[in-house]
Amino acid sequence: MSKGHHRLEALQSRNNQLLIAGHTASELVNIAGSSPCYIYDRQALTQRVAQFRQQMPAELKLHYAIKANPMPAVVGHVAQCVDGLDVASHREMLVALGAGMDAVNISFAGPAKGEHELRAAVAAGITINIESPLELQRLYLCHQEMGIRPRIAFRVNPDFELKTSGMKMAGGPKQFGIDAEQIPSILSELDLDKLDFQGFHIFSGSQNLKAESLIECHQQTFELAARLADQVSAPVKHINIGGGLGIPYFPGEQTLGIDGIAENLQYLLDHRPESLKSSEIVMELGRWLVGEAGYYICQVTDKKESRGQMYLMTNGGLHHHLSNSGNFGQVIRKNYPVVLAHCLEHEEREVVEVVGPLCTPLDIVGAKLALPKAEVGDFIVVLQSGAYGATASPQKFLGHPEVVELLI
Ligand SMILES: *Cc1c(COP(=O)(O)O)cnc(C)c1O
Repeated sequence: MSKGHHRLEALQSRNNQLLIAGHTASELVNIAGSSPCYIYDRQALTQRVAQFRQQMPAELKLHYAIKANPMPAVVGHVAQCVDGLDVASHREMLVALGAGMDAVNISFAGPAKGEHELRAAVAAGITINIESPLELQRLYLCHQEMGIRPRIAFRVNPDFELKTSGMKMAGGPKQFGIDAEQIPSILSELDLDKLDFQGFHIFSGSQNLKAESLIECHQQTFELAARLADQVSAPVKHINIGGGLGIPYFPGEQTLGIDGIAENLQYLLDHRPESLKSSEIVMELGRWLVGEAGYYICQVTDKKESRGQMYLMTNGGLHHHLSNSGNFGQVIRKNYPVVLAHCLEHEEREVVEVVGPLCTPLDIVGAKLALPKAEVGDFIVVLQSGAYGATASPQKFLGHPEVVELLI
C-alpha cells in the first residue's frame, strides 16, 4: 500500500485515528458488540445518491441493485433516496418490499428464476425482467392461473460488450437475458392482453473505471433500445440501461469521474427517437452506490515472524470478505486499501502479511502491506468494503462466528 493511496486522503480522522461516521474503530466495535464487523456510513450513502442527482441528468432515474449490499437497514435507507430497487431473488424481493419501496418501482432480474419466485413477483406487482423464452411461457401460465397481468420487461443480451469491465455480463453467448437477435420474433408474438409490457433491460457489465467504455456502451445501448422499440406495438415505458460504474480498489486505480458520462447521457436523452421520447430511462447501480460507504473491521489476535516475514494474525478473513481476499473474480490478487485504525500515518512502517483464522493460504486480508507497527489488540480496517461483502462470502466455511453489520 502506498502512503498516498487516494482513499486515505478522503478518510475522516482525529489525532491520526480513523473516524467512521464520527466514531473511532474501537467505539464502533463496542457499538456493534464484537469484531469482526462491517460498518456502513449512513451519511456517506446519502451523499453518494446526492452526487448522482447533482451530476447526472435530472430525468435519469436511479435504481439500487440490492445484491451489492442487501442488509435490510441499508436497503431501507437507500430506498428513501433512490427511484427504485432491483432484486435478483425472492428473498431480495422481500427485503425490497420490506424497505417500503412501491412494487411498481421494483424489478426482478436474474437467470433461472424459480416458478415460485415468478408467482411471488407477479402477485406483488413487481416488474419481471424475462431472461428466456421459457420464462415468458411461465408468465403466460401465471396470467392464466392467477388472473393477473404480469408486468414484464425483457432482459436483452446485447450484440456488443462493455469493454474493460471487471466482470462482463453481456455480449457473445451468455446465461443472462435473451439475445438481441431473438427479441424481434418474441415481440411479434407477444400477447399484450395477457402481459403488461414495460420495456427493456440492457445490462452490460460491472466494475468499470473507464468513462470512454461506459460512454460507448451507453451509445450502443440507446441504439439497440431504439431498434427494439420499433418492433413492439406497445409503448416502451422504461429502458433500464444497466450500470457498471466502478469504484477504485487497487493501487493505481483512479476514481471514475462521471461528468463525461453524464454529458453523454444528456445528449442521448435529448436525441432519443420518437419511440423512446416518453420512456423512463433508468440506471441501476450497486457497487458505486454503497461500496465506498462500507468498512470491514477486524482485530489483531497474534503477531509472529516466519523466516523473515512478519505476520499479523486477525480474527477476520475471507469467510467474511471474500472479495478482499482476491477469490471473488480476481485473476491476480491485489490489496484493497487497508489501514491501522488508531495510527493512520507513521514514519516508521513494517511490511506485514495480514491474514485470517482460516486453515487455507487463501485467507489473506492484505499482502506485503507497509503499515505502521501494529500489535495484538489493534484494529485493522479494510476500506471500500460496502459492496459484495458479508453476503458474498462463505461465512459458514470453518465455522467461525458470522460477521456483525452496523449501519450508523
Ligand atoms: C449485479 C447487477 C447489478 C449491480 O452491479 P454493480 O456492479 O454492483 O453496480 C446491476 N444489475 C444487474 C442485473 C446485476 O446483475
